[in-house]
Amino acid sequence: MRFWLRSLQQSSIRYSSTLNQIIDKRLNSELDSIRQAGTWKSERIISTSQSAHIKVEHSTNDLLNFCANNYLGLANNSQIIQAAKNALDKYGSGLSSVRFICGTQTIHKQLEQRIAKFHQREDAILYISCFDANAGIFETLLKEQDYIISDELNHASIIDGIRLCKAKRLRYKHKDMSDLELKLQESFNDKNENIIRLIATDGVFSMDGSIAPLPDIRRLADKYKALIFVDECHATGFFGPTGRGTEEHFQMTGNIDIINSTLGKALGGAAGGYTTGPKALIDLLRQRSRPYLFSNTLPPSVVASAMKAIDLIENDTSLPGRVLENAKYFRTEMQTLGFQILGDSHPICPVMLGDARLASQFADEMLKRGIYVIGFSYPVVPKDRARIRVQVSAAHSKADLKRCIDAFAEVGRQFKIYCRRQNKNLMMSNENKSWPEFVGKDADEVERQLTAEGYQVEIKPEGAPTTRDFRTNRVRLFVDGNNAIVKEPRTG
Ligand code: PLP
Repeated sequence: MRFWLRSLQQSSIRYSSTLNQIIDKRLNSELDSIRQAGTWKSERIISTSQSAHIKVEHSTNDLLNFCANNYLGLANNSQIIQAAKNALDKYGSGLSSVRFICGTQTIHKQLEQRIAKFHQREDAILYISCFDANAGIFETLLKEQDYIISDELNHASIIDGIRLCKAKRLRYKHKDMSDLELKLQESFNDKNENIIRLIATDGVFSMDGSIAPLPDIRRLADKYKALIFVDECHATGFFGPTGRGTEEHFQMTGNIDIINSTLGKALGGAAGGYTTGPKALIDLLRQRSRPYLFSNTLPPSVVASAMKAIDLIENDTSLPGRVLENAKYFRTEMQTLGFQILGDSHPICPVMLGDARLASQFADEMLKRGIYVIGFSYPVVPKDRARIRVQVSAAHSKADLKRCIDAFAEVGRQFKIYCRRQNKNLMMSNENKSWPEFVGKDADEVERQLTAEGYQVEIKPEGAPTTRDFRTNRVRLFVDGNNAIVKEPRTG
């Protein structure tokens, strides 16, 4: 015993020779390859609560935070914190149980009802995260004979959830309605009357801040007797006039069949996820969904904080408006400066830089000026599409946003970003740039993207006459009767 104690004190932890071999040969070499690829993710350690203004370890200065999904700024809201404390006092720290054994309290049922009412659905079911909600839905709903038709850029948790189910998998090109229709036709050739075809998409795509074309997806779903699943993590609570999400943004509330979302972003930022939809589906999930059946229930303090967040959003309808107004201001000012911002009127504002090293150096320079932003590069986004993703919050004041924009302007000048942009445009008037990748795409979609990139877009029917025009930022799109691009768009 004494020997054992001494050896524990003297040496560091001892592993078996098998584990040592695996660490040396497999784990360390994989870790090295991540470092060499330049994709190592280090974590900055925050020493304050999550907020627009934070402090991080080893720095005495305040940082302005533009990285969190704290869209409504509720992560450190005093009323939410009080609600969580009250629940802690009344219901304890946790249930030490899954829901169906002895892990369901009054507040879990109340929150499920509040969520269903918020989305105008029959029922809702809580999970410990939306990752789990996405892991549970497809396997429960879909069988071998069914089809799951998924946008190629869907979130990792949707992709993993789909991997767990036995349905036939089809993937359509990102937001490409012609390709979705092809995939639906493929599934429609199947004459089995009882099959389910489920289209799965993010409502808002988190790397691009772009929005799924839900009205078009609904039209196709109806044509081919399909259901629609939407992940609303980057929309719930703030997107749409009263924060009901992407379907409200498109004035089609109630038209999506199944919604999954998170409590870990706009709705207080703690943790938790849910599915909301028809009661029969929710009943089935309670019986069959594995992450629900075999994982602990949500802590009562987290349930109470999410419920308070819904109270605040329902009682102050200006709250969602504030973040969207901030996003509009940021996007407009940055575009005026000459930066290219992707996406559609959403607080996820990807500032496009192209080069991975530039994105990372740019973020470092921003940090020196007290602005916390992150550069994203391959493999998180496509090669040569590196960017800094700025996430705007309702908690940012106009002065905060201005400080961030001024810092972008300063660092942009330092890296000669404006010069590059002017050169690119000047060159383009001579080189007659083309975009073969747009051929066959929906013209409205391409127009939105090019307009966001600062081009003037003109849509003409196929065969329409053209005159030469040397304006640098004019693009002509030629379309067929289905509004699809038939030729490569060219400038001038
Ligand atoms: N779906 C999307 C689109 C997300 O962005 C995320 C989180 O980043 C998730 C699902 C997972 O949500 P949670 O953090 O609640 O597990």
